[in-house]
Amino acid sequence: MERKEVFTAEQLSTVCDSPVRPADSGKVTTRLRVMFVEDNPADIELELLTLRKDGFEVSSDVAQTAEEFSSRIRTASYDLILADYNLPQWRGTEALDIMRQENLDVPLIVVTGYLGEEKAVEYIKQGATDCVLKDRLARLPTSVRRALAEKRLRDQRRHSEEALAQKVAELARSNAELEQFAYVASHDLQEPLRMIANYTQLLAERYRGKLDTQADKYIGYSVDGALRMQALIQDLLKFSRVGRAEVEPRTTDCQAVVEQASKNLQAAIEESGTAVNCKGLPTMMADPAQLTQVFQNLIANAIKFRGTDHPVVEISAKKMENEWMFAVSDNGIGIPADHWQDIFVIFRRLHTREEYAGNGIGLSICKKIIERHGGKIWIEAQATPGSCFKFTLPFAPSPKATEA
Ligand code: ADP
Repeated sequence: MERKEVFTAEQLSTVCDSPVRPADSGKVTTRLRVMFVEDNPADIELELLTLRKDGFEVSSDVAQTAEEFSSRIRTASYDLILADYNLPQWRGTEALDIMRQENLDVPLIVVTGYLGEEKAVEYIKQGATDCVLKDRLARLPTSVRRALAEKRLRDQRRHSEEALAQKVAELARSNAELEQFAYVASHDLQEPLRMIANYTQLLAERYRGKLDTQADKYIGYSVDGALRMQALIQDLLKFSRVGRAEVEPRTTDCQAVVEQASKNLQAAIEESGTAVNCKGLPTMMADPAQLTQVFQNLIANAIKFRGTDHPVVEISAKKMENEWMFAVSDNGIGIPADHWQDIFVIFRRLHTREEYAGNGIGLSICKKIIERHGGKIWIEAQATPGSCFKFTLPFAPSPKATEA
């Protein structure tokens, strides 16, 4: 076995402390703070010279024991670690474990006299950036540049991920604030609105025909406005309640859910002669009451926005990798493709109230329920006239999506 000469800490730090400036090679200078995990000052000097020749301006420290290494990386920051793997007191590559424990990301290159291919692969697996043999030191600068470039990329990615996480948190907070605001506003506005609606109705009843026709008209507008505002406020409250209610997943028979939704719409279904056909609906984990609301809103729309034929609603489900994908299609008036996104926004409608009753709340409630189950809802083109709504529901709602 190769006998290693043991040098004192002073000898090693003398090598590291001597300022090493880059040779005038014409290359761009890169400042580098290096930690050597090495016991041979001659090797350190050679490595410093090699780097210097290639345009690096290096300052360095050296650690020979695990304790020394730990205390140095805690107190100073390094761009690079060049570690021999076989020191008398410890294996330099254990530095990788220490860095993991300290949660530090500094590229480590194993620079050693001999290293079998298997060992090299093992170190790279453990987190070393590269392995360079001492008799092939010419490779070191290229390896260092690659390590630094990879580290820069990792830093950039980490920064973007942190920025993204921060934005997501801000968005979640502002959404929660908005929801809170919508809830409080709609809840607290109900009482004064009820007063306005009641008293304008009272005015209308008491004074209709007793003032002039203009006055009758104005009172009529006020009653109408107050009632409309009441309906909007109630819808807004309904919407914000969906956002606040806990999703309570239970084993849910989707066929039974559609039957319940149809039962709730019995009068409209009978009056319009609607057929609701289901195919392959699963039993799965979902909140049955909320899912009933989704199907009820979609079937109600299929009836409301029907064409000249009797409405036919086809409901089916397809098993995907992690979720069920549902389709609810109708033979109604259809939706222009440029509105496939915006009609899910609260109060967004494509028709006047004179053409079709409603406030534009139904689809936004469907979207909220589906998203809180961890799914998505969208509209898809279909071969026949009408509309086709698709939505996904994960096999089990994710806890994050169901948080109130
Ligand atoms: P509302 O039905 O009260 O208008 P929704 O949020 O349920 O509110 O729907 C928003 C708009 O989307 C509707 O006003 C309508 O223009 C369009 N829409 C929804 N469902 C259908 C459908 N099945 N067929 C045609 N248009 C639809």
